[in-house]
Amino acid sequence: MTTMTASAPTFDKAARLKQLPPYLFVEIDKAKRRLQAEGKDVIDLGVGDPDVPTPAHIIDALKRTVDEPGNHRYSFTEGMPELRAAIAAWYERRFGVTLDPKTEVLPLLGSKEGIAHFPLAVTNPGDAVLVPDPCYPPYRSGTIFAGAEVVSMPLLEENGFFPDLGAISQRAARRAKLLFLNSPNNPTAAVATQAQLQEAIDFAKSFGIAIAHDAAYSEVAFDGSKPISFLQLPDATSVGVEFHSLSKTYNMTGWRIGFVCGNATLIAALCQLKTNLDSGIFQPVQWAGIAALEGDQQPLQQAVATYQHRRDLFVDGLAKAGWKITKPAATFYLWARIPTTEPSIAFAARILERSHVVCTPGVGFGPSGEGYVRFSLTSPTERIQEAVDRVAKAL
Ligand SMILES: *Cc1c(COP(=O)(O)O)cnc(C)c1O
Repeated sequence: MTTMTASAPTFDKAARLKQLPPYLFVEIDKAKRRLQAEGKDVIDLGVGDPDVPTPAHIIDALKRTVDEPGNHRYSFTEGMPELRAAIAAWYERRFGVTLDPKTEVLPLLGSKEGIAHFPLAVTNPGDAVLVPDPCYPPYRSGTIFAGAEVVSMPLLEENGFFPDLGAISQRAARRAKLLFLNSPNNPTAAVATQAQLQEAIDFAKSFGIAIAHDAAYSEVAFDGSKPISFLQLPDATSVGVEFHSLSKTYNMTGWRIGFVCGNATLIAALCQLKTNLDSGIFQPVQWAGIAALEGDQQPLQQAVATYQHRRDLFVDGLAKAGWKITKPAATFYLWARIPTTEPSIAFAARILERSHVVCTPGVGFGPSGEGYVRFSLTSPTERIQEAVDRVAKAL
């Protein structure tokens, strides 16, 4: 028998991973770690992850159900009937929209999971997908993984950060199978008007395009405003779905639970895909989700009041220092136009060096995000105040 000493095989990652946009913040991350290693007090307003704990009644629902052996087995991809019914009931209460819990509601392992998988379920390689720029990154990566082509729709301040559908070429519109929208928006914090959403529905209908509307921040809105659901508009269910998350609404980012609702054909396609990928959400987490949707909404009101207070602190504080930022009507982000001519990465790096405050350069959300930085308001209020004082001095 001959023994061959084969050299170790070389592996390479898949081409689709190489197509993802490059990670732009290597230098900023390095600078942040260096400052931290030097013992500097860095305030990170980069990520949007609520600092407030999950409300107690939601945690209690998990504790009550976690010991039960029936909850230790595989659950169903389509979710427990009790959860789907609770989602439909919440939707009816909140938006006045009636959904069939069997066919028009699908729980997700966080809405990111559903969003990133959606193009794989409803597009074919070579199809075009219309994606806002700047945007929440999974719209783009999910499209790339599906072998579809990203067609960017710039979000411009003069259009209220809503895509100019009239600017989409006929050719792209005809090739498009899917259109992503997101209101209230991350990162721009803009809230779409009813007329804008209606225009998108009419556009999608005329070109036979499906709409995926991301409403992860529907409950994080200020000054008493209540963002509408895409599905409240006439004909919306015939063209699209709406993604929701319990993460931002109920401070449950680590739990991994969200849902999608709307068009039954699109939802069935996503469910069929997911049957091959996951085996549902851990049932105690589903019971916790039911408790969140059906229980006391007071903690949510408190969290929104807290974000509104932080928004005012931040925007008013920087206005005094001469940096005028638009006060957002929703989300826990500030999308701030850079007061100098520096590129967003250079500006964020300079603010970090001078004030030890981290913000996200707008270009990281897409080329049209250039000229802006995003501050997240999910740090304790006294840290937000400290950050404002430092940034004001650093300007
Ligand atoms: C945070 C976020 C989500 C996803 O949240 P999950 O935790 O995955 O439910 C979806 N869309 C936008 C725009 C977000 O900012």
